Amino acid sequence: MSAQTDLNTPIKYIRGVGPKRATALATAGIDTVNDLLHYYPRRYLDRTTVKSIHELKKGDQATMVGTVEVCGERQARKRKLFQAVLSDSTGMITLVWFNGVKYIKNAVQKGDRLAVHGKVEFYNGFQIVHPDFDKLNSDADPINTGTIIPLYPLTAELKKVRIDHRSFRRIIKENEEMFSIIEDHFEESVLNEQKLIPLQTALQHIHFPESRKNLLAAMERLKFDEHYFLQLLMALRKKSYETIGTNALTKSGPHVQQIETELGFELTAAQQKVIQEIRIDIARPQAMNRLLQGDVGSGKTIVAILVAAAAVANGVQVAVMAPTEILAHQHFESFKKQLNKVHISCALLVGKQKATERKQILEAVKNGKINVVIGTHALIQDEVEFKNLGFVVVDEQHRFGVVQRGILLQKGPHPHLLAMTATPIPRTMAITYHGDMDLSIIDEMPKDRKPVITKIVKEDRLQNVYKFICEEVQAGRQCMVVYPLVEETEKSDLADATEGFEALQNIFKGIKIGLIHGRMKKEEKDAIMNAYAKNEIKILVSTTVIEVGIDIPNASVMLIEHAERFGLTQLHQLRGRVGRGSSKSYCILVERNIRDTSRKRLAIMEKTNNGFIIADEDLKMRGPGKFFSTEQSGFFKHIIADMVTDGAIIRKAREVAQTIAETDTKLENNPRMKKRLLKDYAQYLDTVVIS
Ligand code: ADP
Ligand code: MG
Repeated sequence: MSAQTDLNTPIKYIRGVGPKRATALATAGIDTVNDLLHYYPRRYLDRTTVKSIHELKKGDQATMVGTVEVCGERQARKRKLFQAVLSDSTGMITLVWFNGVKYIKNAVQKGDRLAVHGKVEFYNGFQIVHPDFDKLNSDADPINTGTIIPLYPLTAELKKVRIDHRSFRRIIKENEEMFSIIEDHFEESVLNEQKLIPLQTALQHIHFPESRKNLLAAMERLKFDEHYFLQLLMALRKKSYETIGTNALTKSGPHVQQIETELGFELTAAQQKVIQEIRIDIARPQAMNRLLQGDVGSGKTIVAILVAAAAVANGVQVAVMAPTEILAHQHFESFKKQLNKVHISCALLVGKQKATERKQILEAVKNGKINVVIGTHALIQDEVEFKNLGFVVVDEQHRFGVVQRGILLQKGPHPHLLAMTATPIPRTMAITYHGDMDLSIIDEMPKDRKPVITKIVKEDRLQNVYKFICEEVQAGRQCMVVYPLVEETEKSDLADATEGFEALQNIFKGIKIGLIHGRMKKEEKDAIMNAYAKNEIKILVSTTVIEVGIDIPNASVMLIEHAERFGLTQLHQLRGRVGRGSSKSYCILVERNIRDTSRKRLAIMEKTNNGFIIADEDLKMRGPGKFFSTEQSGFFKHIIADMVTDGAIIRKAREVAQTIAETDTKLENNPRMKKRLLKDYAQYLDTVVIS
């Protein structure tokens, strides 16, 4: 490293890294000195985290260190596998690999010292299948030396040029001066207040931890940073939206009242509360940017209808966007039913419409004859123009990207936005992912709702279940049977919807059964859905196309095949399709491939109907990556932060971010912060202008 080295210096210029190593490091995302400093170890080994083999119990997630006594390839029935026996001074455990045998054979040899991490199972003795492992060098043995050893994420490319954990430590040590060029983006006062250590110290300790205590302090600081920038981004976005001027929709008109009195049911207190929040918000001359969260079946649609009617009273148009055609159709029916009563005109715009019909609708939207237009992605096409779009509703908003939402919003002069979601997310996640929006929550179900009784059943109990379904149908109610998505590659081991449909026709002789799936033509789908809605079809067999939003109050049984294949949130959504009327409803989860993890997941469904609890568990089990759309998880530079366990840190980071966004909106007094935000979050700045 030379005197001019800064954080952007390419990695190939530093000591211990030549062109060849630089190329390999680039594959791990390390191009500059800064990248290297932020390439955090993924695990640490020390006496307190390593377990002795004799203490291991079945089911443990554990780390152990030992020597490979014997290893080799084996043929087990049709599969090749590789086994290694690892021993420490207390016992032995078998490590097994079924895939990538060729690679492992070269990577693991007799006499190797390995740090191994994985889930302990019992099968002819203790074993770990596909363990995560790291080879240890003789000078880096946490058991013998009592030190803390950082283990870096090593890619195959890195291993090829022999970069291992020790190489990382060496390279960083040899270029130790680079720590001195790190500048903190927080003032000392903030660090003191938040009890955070300086960034420089944190980075030193993350690579060379001297004690558990200073490692934890380092982690805390680096976690704080990651959350902080995201919170800052959200706070600045929120601040910037608040400055966008727009039509204040202050009039309420006679329609809202009229619709409400003719509804046939009372709005819940929660519905009334959120309607009030929305109405106050749109009466301001700044664009609303609000997320309405409410569990499936909590009655978000009627809220949207009532506030749309209020918006129309102010002479603006309303657009309602739904993620699927089926749902758009259903919304159209719901809106029409209520809005026709008060002579507010509405239209439907979806992908596959007749050209003439479409042209007429486009024309009427453009000249303002249509007040409310409901549709799918078809709404965001160029040719859709509004006379005066003032209010936008996006249903199941997690299904849309920020960009799609943005395009729709640009069709009017800064319309107010109401986004709706039935995926309740834990509070700490909500303030992160939706930190730029105001939140309205429907936390109450309509009075007559009873929790859906949920049961896990195995194949051998299905006959009884079918009998039960017959009884329900005879009592006048309806049923849905859902199969996981048909994926060609998996088809062989999957009782797919089509086969299921044929089998069920034989079982339920004399009962009208329908089949609906994503590959059907729209007309076919509509015909089936209509027949089901009219109670002509009694049992509807389906792939997950019915997941979103569909509302059939007479349906009382939901049977989900291969339930273990679904995520919890998805199961909860599916279950929400029943229990919408006043009769007792049931959700039957058919578990076919039984595994520990799926059993645990499904058991949560049996235990609770509360979407928030389910979301929490889902998040814990799957992590935020899978939980959210890729777009949302893309915000995250997360290397060290953990959405599930960092709640306290997130709240602190948010507080600081809000203060900064409030007092230094353009980050003029925080140039380093500004630089970092522009560098790492540029594509998410949206309406934020800081330079
Ligand atoms: P979601 O919030 O999942 O979108 P919907 O808006 O589809 O739920 O509402 C589900 C069902 O509940 C609909 O049939 C709707 O008419 C009905 N509903 C909505 N609000 C109430 C209420 N306050 N009392 C009784 N039924 C209601
Ligand atoms: Mg809905």
